[in-house]
Formats: sequence, C-alpha cells, structure tokens
Amino acid sequence: MRHAVFSIRSVLVTLGALSILIAAGLAGFGLLGIQRQLDARKHVVVLEQALWNHTNADTFMDSVRTDVLRALQNAIGTNKEGDKFIRSELEHHLDVLHTSIAENLGLPLSPALHENYVALAGFVTTFTPAGRHAVELALADPAAGSANFERFRQSFKGLEELMDTVRDVLHEDVRHVRDSAARTAKRVKRMIVASALVGAMLLVLITTVAVRIAQGITADLANSREEAHRLALHDTLTGLPNRAFFAERMEHALAQVRRHRTMLAVLCLDLDRFKQVNDTLGHPVGDALLRAVAGRLGGCLRDCDTAARLGGDEFVIIQAPLGRVEDAGTLAQRIINVLSEPYDLNGHKVVIGASVGIALAPADTTDSDHILKMADMALYRAKADGRGVFRMFEPGMDTRMQARRMLELDLRRAVKAQEFALDYQPLVDLSSGQVGALEALVRWHHPERGLIRPDDFIPLAEDTGLIGPIGAWVLRQACADAAGWPADVRIAVNISAAQFKCPGLVATVLDALAASGLAPERLELEITETALLADADATLAVLHTLRAKGVRIAMDDFGTGYSSLSYLRSFPFDKIKIDRCFIRDLETSVDCKAIVRAVTGLGSNLGITTTAEGVETLAQLDQLRAEGCDQVQGFLFSRPVPAREVAALLGQAVDADRTGCLPGMAGHGHPELV
Ligand code: C2E
Ligand code: MG
Ligand code: MG
Repeated sequence: MRHAVFSIRSVLVTLGALSILIAAGLAGFGLLGIQRQLDARKHVVVLEQALWNHTNADTFMDSVRTDVLRALQNAIGTNKEGDKFIRSELEHHLDVLHTSIAENLGLPLSPALHENYVALAGFVTTFTPAGRHAVELALADPAAGSANFERFRQSFKGLEELMDTVRDVLHEDVRHVRDSAARTAKRVKRMIVASALVGAMLLVLITTVAVRIAQGITADLANSREEAHRLALHDTLTGLPNRAFFAERMEHALAQVRRHRTMLAVLCLDLDRFKQVNDTLGHPVGDALLRAVAGRLGGCLRDCDTAARLGGDEFVIIQAPLGRVEDAGTLAQRIINVLSEPYDLNGHKVVIGASVGIALAPADTTDSDHILKMADMALYRAKADGRGVFRMFEPGMDTRMQARRMLELDLRRAVKAQEFALDYQPLVDLSSGQVGALEALVRWHHPERGLIRPDDFIPLAEDTGLIGPIGAWVLRQACADAAGWPADVRIAVNISAAQFKCPGLVATVLDALAASGLAPERLELEITETALLADADATLAVLHTLRAKGVRIAMDDFGTGYSSLSYLRSFPFDKIKIDRCFIRDLETSVDCKAIVRAVTGLGSNLGITTTAEGVETLAQLDQLRAEGCDQVQGFLFSRPVPAREVAALLGQAVDADRTGCLPGMAGHGHPELV
C-alpha cells in the first residue's frame, strides 16, 4: 500500500516537473521569437528614420534646385539684396543637408548604405565650398555669370545624382528590411502558434498519461485492497469462507430468520479417516483431499447456502432458507454419499467417510454461538453412533456434553492424583486347570462418584490423549505386580488403538519391563482390531518390534470387528481372545457355536492359543472344552480381583469336578456358582 502511494506521488511529481520544463522551454522559444520580431521592427524604424531624414534632405535639395537656381539665374547682376538672399538660402539648405546626412550617418545602417552615406557626406563637404564659390563667382561677375552659374548647376547635379543613388539604395534597403521584418513577424507568429499548439498537446498528453497512471495505480490499490479483503475472509487452501466470514454470514442469516420468520440449518461436518490420509500419504495429498471435498460440497449446495472451512477437516454449512426440517437431513445424507465416493488424488485412490451434525434455527436456538455448538454436539453423537451418519441436535445432548466435560476435568485431575487401581482376572488353561495368566483391568476410584468402570472413561481418555499417561501407569503397575507372581503366570495388559498414536509406546513397554525385572515372555499385550484399522503400518511396526523382544501379542474381542480374519494374516498373533458375545449365546445360537468352532479350529491349525472371554456357565465351559478351546476367562472362575487377592487366587487350581469356581473365590465368582 505504502509502495503504491509512493509511486503515485513520484509519478505525479515527475510528470509535473516535465510539464514545467516543457512549458519553460516553449516560453523561452516564444520570447526568443518576440525578441527577434522586436529587433526587426527596430531595424525598420531605423531605416524609416533614415529615409525620412533623406527625404527631408531631398526636399531641401528640391528647394535649392528650384529656389536657389532660379534666384541665382534671375539675380545674376541684378541687386545686392537678391545676392544676400541666395547666399543665405544656400547656407541654410546646405546646413539642413549636412545635419540630415550627419544624422543618418549616426544611425546603425547596413554597410552598403553607410558606405554611400560616407560618400555623400564627402561629396557634400567638397560641394559646399565649391558650390559657395560658384555662387560667389556667379554673383561677383555677372558677365561671366552664366558660365559660373553653369558650373554651380553642374556641381549641384552631381550632388543630386548621388542623393538619388543613396535614396535608391535606401529605398531598396527599406523594402528589403521591411520584407524581412514581415517575414520574421510571420515566422514568429507561426512559431508562437506552433509552440502554443505543441505546449497544449504536450499538456494534454501529460495530463492524460498522469490521469491514466493515477487511475491504474488507484485501480491496483483497489484491487489489492479487494484481494486483501478476500484473503482475510477466505480459507487460502479451499477458497471457501473462513471462520470470520462464516460468523458474519451466520449473524446475517440468523437476522433474516428472526425478521422474516424463516428457518435455517447449520450442518457441522467431520471427515472420517482424514488424519490417516494426511499422516500416511503426506500433506500434499491431504491438501488435495480438502480441496476436493470443498469442490464436492459446492456441488451439493444451492447458491443461497454457505459452506465454510473453520480449520483442519472442520467444515460447516449454513442451509438458509430451509423449506422443511427434513430438507436438512436430505442435504446431510447427500453430502455423506457424495463425500464417500472414492477420490483420485495425485495418483492415490482414497476413500473417506463423513459424519454430519445438524442444528436448526429457530427450533433449537437463534444464537450464532449456540447453534454451532449444538450442531457440534449432534456431530459428536453421529461419530459416536458409528460414523457415516447424520444426527439432529436433541436437548439431552447438551447435558450429556456437559457431563462429559466435567468427567474430562475429573480425569485430568485423577491422572495427577493417582486415583487408578488395577484388578486382575485369571485366564485359566483348560489343559492343566491352572491360571496361565491374569488380565489387568483398570479401575478409577473417584473420590465422590466411587468406582468408575473402564468402559465409562477409557473412550474419553482415548479422545483426550489421557490414555497415554494412564496406559503407561497400567503397564508399569501390572509388570511390577506380575514380577511377584510365579514365573509361569503371565500378565495380560490391554493396549488401546489410541495408545499406538502416542509416541514412545515401545519405550514405555520396555521401561515397564526393565523397571519390574519381568521377563518379556511373561507380558501379553491385548490389542483390538481398531488398533490395526488406523495407520496399520505404524502399528504393525511397533508390534513387530515388541514381539522381537519376546513380548506376546493377543488379539482381543475377536469377531466383533469387520475383518478379524484378515488381520490374522497381517501379524503372527500369539493368542486369539474370542469375544464374549459369542460365548454368551453359545448354548442357544447355532451361529455362535459354528463361529467358536471355526476360530478354535483356526487357532489350532495356525498354532495360536484360543481364549474364550466371558465364560459364565458350566455349559459354556463344556462346550468350549469340546470345541478344543485352550483357555477360558470369565465370572465362572473369578471376577476381576484387587492385586492383594491374586496370591490367594493363584494358590488354587480349578476344581477337578468342574464346578468352575476357584476355591477361595467365594464372593467373587458368579453367585450361582459360589
Ligand atoms: P476386555 O479387554 O475385553 O476385558 C474383559 C472385560 O470383560 C472386563 O470388563 C471384564 O470385567 C469383563 N468380563 C470378564 N468376565 C466376564 C464375564 O463372565 N461376563 C461378563 N459379562 N463380563 C466379563 P472391564 O473390566 O469393564 O473392562 C472393559 C474393557 O475395558 C476391557 O475389555 C478393555 O477393553 C478395557 N480396559 C480395561 N482395562 C484397561 C486398560 O488398562 N487399558 C486399556 N486400554 N483398556 C482397558
Ligand atoms: Mg482384554
Ligand atoms: Mg475382550
């Protein structure tokens, strides 16, 4: 901006200086012309003066010729008075002639004229005494009068001829000078007119150029101001309105809703697996994906709707005006469908999903801050409900969100205050009836709310990243406890998908082993399919490293995911834990029986231990034994118990009569079995 202002000023100053220079040049030119004209005039005046003087002298010469010659002719020998008159006349006329010639000689005449005048002056000087003498003679000797008169007349004639010659030269000079003065005047006039024209043209040209330049710079300034304004209101990556512009649009749209009693919907959008694409394929592909998403969103909207990018993969849409409430759901579904179509980004085929949360005005609120928060809560619900769906805001969500926020604050405090404890649940080897391992299950002893189970806080810990410190503590504590158990009893620790995203999981595990002195072979890590779902390569690398150190890896909750079987191929798991949902319906469901049979068969073929979770009844135990399952875990044997009770628990073996209840476990086992 400063640069542009500087340019405008410097250009105008330069052009101004240029015009002043040109004007000064033209004025100088004009003045020169005027000076030349004045000089020519002066010259004409001088010559006119000389001519006038000469004509004066000529007139006197005429008088001499007429008066003196006639008087002289008549007077010869007549009277003395006549003689006197002739003499004084001649004296007078010769004086006048002298004066006039002298005067002209003083004028700045041309060299030729001056030369003639010098000759004339010389002639007059010699003529004057000669003429006088001739007159004297003529008067003194009337007898010889006519001869003397003739002499005088001859002398006079010479003077006359010279006067004529001078007059002719003078006339010629006057004519010449007059002509040249006229020519000069004409030239000067032309020069002045031309200068004025050129000056005017240059002035017009300079003014036009200055105006054009000023206009150009002003337009540039306006353009750059407009561009700066646009950039301030738009997201540079996608070109969509940014948060500031969105807030402006939102206020405007809500004002319309209040004024015209119309409706609008705010749709908050979240891209499933965007982070994964960004992390695995790199930021250029991530950016291309965001641009493609923005483009597809644009195709779903009407001109009156607004799509904005608030940051990251956070998109939001204002659907206004909204005809019917259902239209918001229709748009949300269309967006989910369109965004779920495969993308071809820089040669990479990418598939993502989308979840949408919707809030309505005026039904939910007419406050711009609130409506965005409400749509966000609905989005949170959509994601919790399995993603790829849309959810409308419901009043209950607000209180749930607040409760969740409270819980999050509590959880942060709990990490610092060490409010966690571990319970252990045995995994019994069916072949020996011995406890082969104990699974560590974390508990939160809340000072006010009492015991909180992992299902109620682990997901929150995963979302907030608190799973990092909590998981590290579990590992350290479990290894330390297990180090005091018999050497043939393993410890199983759950590692959630989110823990693989925390840096240094390998180091955390190795530190826990080193600190406790526990042999790596006694540590079993239970992971679920979701850990392999996100960023599989990185997860597999961690798993391979740990397994190479001797740590065993178990696949937890087998059968609940989408492709548990395919994951078995991706990594050499040491154990499969069949999810308890299959065990629960084992007696009634043919499918469950078939699945359990298939998994145990698969396990024995692949050399992988199979463990059944959630074994609660003897019938289930019988079935599992019949199917060849290796290990069982469930309330039938023991509920999870605090660390201090583990020693007692390990001292017992499974009753041979298959009551299923570990002796000494009264109060922990299933009520029916105790
Ligand atoms: P899981 O790894 O599948 O753990 C087994 C869960 O099944 C435990 O619930 C256990 O109490 C329960 N259970 C055991 N036997 C029976 C039975 O016969 N019937 C029924 N109905 N349930 C039985 P819990 O302790 O509530 O843990 C729930 C989940 O929380 C665990 O499922 C595990 O995924 C997670 N979790 C527990 N502790 C930790 C931990 O330290 N770290 C992580 N990341 N996750 C943990
Ligand atoms: Mg487990
Ligand atoms: Mg499990």
